[in-house]
Amino acid sequence: MKITECEGYKKLSASVESDEQRGSGAHDYRGKLAWTVARAEHYAQKTGLSAIDILNAWEKSRDYWYMNYYQDANQPEIKGDNVRVFDTVEDLKAAIGEAKFRCPSCGGVSTNPYECNASQDCNWKSYGLFGTMGKGANVFVKSELRGQEIFTPVAWEHDNAKVADESDHDGR
Ligand SMILES: [Zn+2]
Repeated sequence: MKITECEGYKKLSASVESDEQRGSGAHDYRGKLAWTVARAEHYAQKTGLSAIDILNAWEKSRDYWYMNYYQDANQPEIKGDNVRVFDTVEDLKAAIGEAKFRCPSCGGVSTNPYECNASQDCNWKSYGLFGTMGKGANVFVKSELRGQEIFTPVAWEHDNAKVADESDHDGR
């Protein structure tokens, strides 16, 4: 099957066509469709999954306008270790260990990876307008065909610090 024949593509391209017909021409709807297919193919290449399965899963979970849903912040390019890829949710949980996540806003330790519960004053949410302000972690779970941005697990901070430390030494 070609990707243009799958359910996800049909649903997305129907939305694009309807926007084009009503369209003000203010947005590049067709360009977004091409971007989305290219990004699904990129994810397929990086994870060994099928681009069709990925696009179908994205379209199934999409509950708002595709022009906002499909963007680098939500489906980041997988390069280096900016996105950690796991086979299953169990593998992800094992890598996180104890449920401790660093809140990007107050710096406290939250037991919830999406909503800060470190203090009563902080109500920061990883899916809020500013996400995790670049201080979170992107994970992709192959069995779920889904990626998410979460607060950085405390267990991973040591790894991140090590990487930062190593790059510090490069310039000396
Ligand atoms: Zn907080």
